[in-house]
Amino acid sequence: MMKKRKFLLFSFITILFFFFKIKFFNSLFANFKKRNHTAVLTHDIVLNHLISIDHPEKSERIIELIKLLEKKKLGILIREINLETKEKNWVKTIHSNYHIKSLKSKYPIGEKSSLIAVKGCLQGIDEIMKNRHKNIFCAVRPPGHHALNTGKHEGFCYYNHIAISAKYIQNKYKLRKILIIDWDYHHGNSTELFFYDDPSVLFFSTHDANAYPRTGSPDRTGSGKGEGYNVNIHLPCGTNDKKIISIYDKKLVKKANIFKPDFILISAGFDSRKDDPLGCFDISDKGFKTLTTIALQIAENHCNGRLLSILEGGYNVLGNAKAAVTHIDTLNNFYKNI
Ligand SMILES: [Zn+2]
Repeated sequence: MMKKRKFLLFSFITILFFFFKIKFFNSLFANFKKRNHTAVLTHDIVLNHLISIDHPEKSERIIELIKLLEKKKLGILIREINLETKEKNWVKTIHSNYHIKSLKSKYPIGEKSSLIAVKGCLQGIDEIMKNRHKNIFCAVRPPGHHALNTGKHEGFCYYNHIAISAKYIQNKYKLRKILIIDWDYHHGNSTELFFYDDPSVLFFSTHDANAYPRTGSPDRTGSGKGEGYNVNIHLPCGTNDKKIISIYDKKLVKKANIFKPDFILISAGFDSRKDDPLGCFDISDKGFKTLTTIALQIAENHCNGRLLSILEGGYNVLGNAKAAVTHIDTLNNFYKNI
């Protein structure tokens, strides 16, 4: 009799335990579902930087982007960059002391803005690694993919945010293989330079090799152990959605499937969009939606979705905002459909 009672009590407790356990996991899952897959990191300080009156790399690029995000009810994704993020030693993994010192004295405001961009990138990587978000977009300026170690800004760029991000992921999180996708209209000559002999970084760039800085020849494929890990694809003026999508669909996907990245970084320049005053491509917002989806699919197939996207160029203020918002919306919606 005693045994039967004990058995009944045990069964009752077990059923109760599983009931609450299911409820607990259901509520956790519901919270996960409610969480935003994407965050947009930005900071007001990046608006202070001014190269010169009427310069195309201006604060309105960010102001319009944020305004449009709010208008499209995506303002919920926006978060402020944490200024406490320590970036100093990470900048030095790419840039020389001479370059850093020179920028600080020549262009204190531009240099500070670029440092805020670096902080945003590092914070974004931390948040992705902590599973707070699947992917993150950094709405920052100036751009970074032309920045060298010359002690001055190059092509509106001060520090190479994407190159510093790649080093940070490798050194802090011990993830080795980084895929950098660069769809800015201009070739990311600095990103190419810093990883040219490095097989741990696959640099895939589509650009107009006849435009600034007149680099990006398809013959430049990497050197030493890095041979084959630098992919330059020159596209002519008038390149449209169909043409660029077929390149990403075939060449990028094929390369990425062999490389199997641990993390994906996007140099998201929207001066490759139609109607850009500095570019001559004809890519629509729908085209950027497809390019984003291809990148997300690669991230999902190889690295649990880990993807950080950083704003580079894009000088038609409204066009840049429209393409960036389409990109962000695609980043956020991708996981609702799979
Ligand atoms: Zn550009």
